[in-house]
Amino acid sequence: MQSRILDEFRSVVSQGLITGESQLHTYECDALTNFRVMPQAVLLPTSTEQVQAVIRICSREKIPFVARGSGTGLSGGALPDGRGIVISLARMNRILEVDLPNARVVVEPGVINSEVTQRVAAHGYFYAPDPSSQSVCSIGGNVAENSGGAHCLKYGFTTTHVLGLDVVLPDGSLVHIGGKASDHPGYDLPGIFVGSEGTLGIATRITLRIVKKPEVIQTLLAAFNSTNEAGAAVSEIIAAGMLPAAIEMMDNLAIQAAEASVHAGYPDCGALLLVELDGPSAEVVYLMDHVIKICKQCGAWEVRVAQSEAERMVVWKGRKAAFAAMGRISPNYIVQDGVIPRTALPQVLTEIERMSAAEGLRVANVFHAGDGNLHPLVLYDRRIAGQEDRAFELSINILRLCVKFGGSITGEHGVGEEKKMMMSEMFAEPDLDTMQLVRCAFDPEQLSNPGKVFPRPRLCAEKTGPYEPHPLEQAGVAQFF
Ligand SMILES: Cc1cc2nc3c(=O)[nH]c(=O)nc-3n(C[C@H](O)[C@H](O)[C@H](O)COP(=O)(O)OP(=O)(O)OC[C@H]3O[C@@H](n4cnc5c(N)ncnc54)[C@H](O)[C@@H]3O)c2cc1C
Repeated sequence: MQSRILDEFRSVVSQGLITGESQLHTYECDALTNFRVMPQAVLLPTSTEQVQAVIRICSREKIPFVARGSGTGLSGGALPDGRGIVISLARMNRILEVDLPNARVVVEPGVINSEVTQRVAAHGYFYAPDPSSQSVCSIGGNVAENSGGAHCLKYGFTTTHVLGLDVVLPDGSLVHIGGKASDHPGYDLPGIFVGSEGTLGIATRITLRIVKKPEVIQTLLAAFNSTNEAGAAVSEIIAAGMLPAAIEMMDNLAIQAAEASVHAGYPDCGALLLVELDGPSAEVVYLMDHVIKICKQCGAWEVRVAQSEAERMVVWKGRKAAFAAMGRISPNYIVQDGVIPRTALPQVLTEIERMSAAEGLRVANVFHAGDGNLHPLVLYDRRIAGQEDRAFELSINILRLCVKFGGSITGEHGVGEEKKMMMSEMFAEPDLDTMQLVRCAFDPEQLSNPGKVFPRPRLCAEKTGPYEPHPLEQAGVAQFF
């Protein structure tokens, strides 16, 4: 990058400019470490005005940029463009306003998810979206990925809890979308921005909805011989008209890993179900009794309800640590993220088992069973030639299976770099064209996180409509994914 441009960046962010090679390595990937690209520079602005000034320079010089929160993304979303810069929001980490009477909190994007709950807990409130990474991931990253978590079954994903945003558009201008009110006339622009994976600009101020803590929370742990039995219990619980705060499932491999890592005291079983109920005391006690009966009818041979808050935390610790714990049982692993209709759980899990055996690679399953959001973890050893490619192929074939059963290629981790070639397996060309029109309305120069989400690059001047194959493609020489 030309030194005059670096000088200009330095004049905006002063010490917040990183160009040293060893430091840049920190920013070459997110938590999906299979993809790595070194950025030209990393900038750490401390205010919206600085973000605007940096992006104006990018816009003038046609420099691609990517926002970065904590870098815990699992789809390569914060992967830089080799010609461009990373704009880290880590130093914009202040909680700006706590408005308890209206149950709103206004934050800068670098605020860590769990800090929001920590700030309001003493007043009887919490911030509901709870990704397992909540102790380290940022609200800005959550917004971009529309992150979920165990309690999103009842409370809804990030999009339900983001009411307003200040966004620096890719030309450096600032827009205020949504606000503190629950609804706004016109297009639902916060709804469009949430989940846009950094492709529409950078959020610099976010208004969140917080919710009142329930009177009582009870967490049950039930041990089954198989995921099929546990899956049947999930269907029965939902069919009985209950909406638990969370229903999570772990298979035996996932249990082994979690136990080796955090010793949560899980029984050694084929499948473990965690069911959490919250609400008024009388309702929770009554419904928990019903859940216990259903679990036993479906084959649970051990059922435990946590007897204290400390015990409940230990139960959750095992589940929340499950991804990272895979390192205890495998040198490498790929975390996948697909969605299926809840009723298809038994068939899909049986098929994943078959595919895993056929490929000779172990697959552990941890998932938000209540909303059909699977997290198959494909275990492999990078040191064995070819195994990484086979693991990646298997993980992608599992996503194809999800699509075949009427599901989706991502439930909460986003498309990013990793799954962009899967978009055309899920969407028809007109659908992708419509998404591109939205993208181009915000970012006609395609500078904000270019090359992500969409299966193939397309210029905004390119006409929409049915896809016309390139002559090389027609000749069978090249292929679009
Ligand atoms: C162990 C582990 C467990 C996880 N569990 C869950 C889970 O339960 N549920 C879940 O949903 N995810 C989970 N994740 C994935 C990840 O934590 C989430 O996607 C999280 O929201 C990413 O936040 P981040 O701050 O790390 O964002 P980053 O990884 O830094 O960035 C993610 C995306 O957000 C964009 N972005 C960041 N900040 C902004 C901004 N201010 N404006 C615009 N775009 C921005 C980036 O460009 C990128 O595209 C897990 C990850 C790990 C490692």
